Amino acid sequence: NECPRTQKPFTVYSQSLKEKLIAQSNLESDLRHALAANEQLSMVYQPIVNTIDGTLIGCEALVRWQHPVRGFVSPVEFIAIAEQSELINLLSRWIVAKVAEDCHRMVENNIRIKVSINLSRKQFSDVHLVKRLSKEKAKLFPANQKINLEITESALFQNTQYAINLMHELKLAGFNLSLDDFGTGYSSLSSIQQFPLDNVKIDRAFICNCVDNPRDGLFLQTMSDLAHQLDLTITAEGVESSEQWQLVSDKGIDYIQGYLISMPLSIDDFITFDPVA
Ligand code: C2E
Ligand code: MG
Ligand code: MG
Ligand code: MG
Repeated sequence: NECPRTQKPFTVYSQSLKEKLIAQSNLESDLRHALAANEQLSMVYQPIVNTIDGTLIGCEALVRWQHPVRGFVSPVEFIAIAEQSELINLLSRWIVAKVAEDCHRMVENNIRIKVSINLSRKQFSDVHLVKRLSKEKAKLFPANQKINLEITESALFQNTQYAINLMHELKLAGFNLSLDDFGTGYSSLSSIQQFPLDNVKIDRAFICNCVDNPRDGLFLQTMSDLAHQLDLTITAEGVESSEQWQLVSDKGIDYIQGYLISMPLSIDDFITFDPVA
């Protein structure tokens, strides 16, 4: 009902002010501040369920940043920025400590599941990774907490022999290992057999059209068969419809994760989440 001519100057002014504030903000120093002040950052948890009966078997921890001026900033964006400096170490320490705290909340609520934590490429190439994670596991997490580490193909193929050795050390330290976003990188199906993995996560890109695209269906079947031959479990990411759930189930894929089951949840919402509801 408002007159566009009187509304316009106001809109233009408020937009340019916001743009100015955004231009002045520097994501790296803003992230440094958020970490130091322990504010704006939070963790959310997305349920991972059994494909056959929908029972909760685990969750993936995902970091969130609510920037005071920009609003929600994608973790893809700010993790890339953090990786350009030693800030990634502070960030990953913060993430692990927060996840550990929330694992205690889960256990207090009788939820004993595997929790998955993402490792960025640079974190994976940190020579102190095993020592640091082992310490944090022993010191911060509930006793016997199952922790799964998600690693992307690009991290593994930077230096194959280094990756294999590091993964063996992580396994000895009691961590489970997933290959994340499988299918989006350059690795061939067979090249994954050289890594000591427990699980492969098929990227959402192969799930979103799988009901209509027979080639995606074929890829899912081939991946599922290969994973099982290699004694790995397989998870489908980004399942959004019951048709996709059905198809993924027909292919023998063990676990699913996606908006159909649940969005990533705050710890308060996660502990009251009921997968069968
Ligand atoms: P990812 O590890 O492959 O995580 C899955 C992403 O898919 C998440 O995005 C999740 O919210 C989204 N997702 C889950 N189900 C669905 C669905 O049904 N449909 C659609 N469209 N999306 C779905 P998010 O949280 O934005 O994270 C993006 C990426 O950022 C992650 O990809 C991961 O690589 C990275 N990331 C997130 N949190 C962390 C973290 O704590 N540490 C590190 N190193 N990386 C993180
Ligand atoms: Mg992941
Ligand atoms: Mg993934
Ligand atoms: Mg993904």
